[in-house]
Amino acid sequence: MKVADYLLKITPYEGGKPIEELQRELGLVDVIKLASNENPLGPSKKVIETICKIAVNVNLYPDGNAYYLTQKLAKHLGVSDKNLIFGNGSDEIIELLYKAFATNQNDEILYCYPTFIEYRIIGMAFNKKIIELPLKDFAYDIDNLIEHINENTRIIFINTPNNPTGTLTGLDDILKIINKASKDTLIVIDEAYYEYAKPSTHYKELLDLYKKENVIILRTFSKAYALAGLRIGYGIANEFIIQTLNRVRPPFNVNIVAQAAAIAALDDKEHLKKSIQTNEEGKQFLYEQFNKLNLFYVPTFANFILFSTPIDASIVYENLLKEGVIVRSMKPYGYNNFLRVTVGTQKENEIFIQKLKKVLHV
Ligand code: PMP
Repeated sequence: MKVADYLLKITPYEGGKPIEELQRELGLVDVIKLASNENPLGPSKKVIETICKIAVNVNLYPDGNAYYLTQKLAKHLGVSDKNLIFGNGSDEIIELLYKAFATNQNDEILYCYPTFIEYRIIGMAFNKKIIELPLKDFAYDIDNLIEHINENTRIIFINTPNNPTGTLTGLDDILKIINKASKDTLIVIDEAYYEYAKPSTHYKELLDLYKKENVIILRTFSKAYALAGLRIGYGIANEFIIQTLNRVRPPFNVNIVAQAAAIAALDDKEHLKKSIQTNEEGKQFLYEQFNKLNLFYVPTFANFILFSTPIDASIVYENLLKEGVIVRSMKPYGYNNFLRVTVGTQKENEIFIQKLKKVLHV
């Protein structure tokens, strides 16, 4: 079977082993996963009740237009229902963006790196020319990015807070990029971690950028809303962009359970508040511990922290794994001396620090 050369260059996304499998292999009862920036509190009780109720309907196709969820979210955000699109995770929306807007041979995709790896993987699957510029001090280097915008730049990805560094790109810098880019360049503002960063950002002004001709804002229910396993994310953009994306969207892309659960998650404001608070407290605890251990870390606006290790990070990673703590290796991103840890519950954070100390012999 022939496969295109450009597809053979892609390294498939590597997920970890199931936790139960690791427990069995390591002979450990407790394994904690702080690797995928999931919400450590689990879903809200209201979400669980809703999922149980909707279970009797899973013989039916979902509503392809996600009518009730669209109405709910439009009201919640203060936008029109015509400004929203849902995806099977915001991952899927990224793919739809390529499908709809990067359709010419010469199109270039531009962003700073390390950032969310899917921009690269999907770009390679569409055989696009990808321009990856280095981060500066762990954050998007706006001046350099602006210098690289040209008439072929078709999509610019701005991930704020940026995964894996947790740094923000401010409104002024985003406006500079929008002003430099032509109207045929789509500016994607990926705010997957926005709920955690909200108090620190000009979020209202940022949200208003959706009214621009060539901007889309991406968000997800996977993080602060704790629905990663259901795969649901959304985009906010002007009607033309949304209509264009709908032309290439599979008709039943967001399943019936995810739609109902997202409505329930939006309703449970307490759970969201608690999730953000747990993250804030966890962050402060981990900062203190890193300081005590004299470990460098990047202050974060999200629910994960990038930190460096005094010895080879891959050894620390492997030894933490043997101790039943899964973090994220940064080797695939070229950050050989760094690991990324998701902020967990207080108990998980304590176990992580205890095991880290053991592994570092301190
Ligand atoms: N954007 C960023 C920056 C992410 O970190 C993630 C998930 N790790 C996503 C998008 C995709 O989120 P999902 O597909 O779960 O909505």
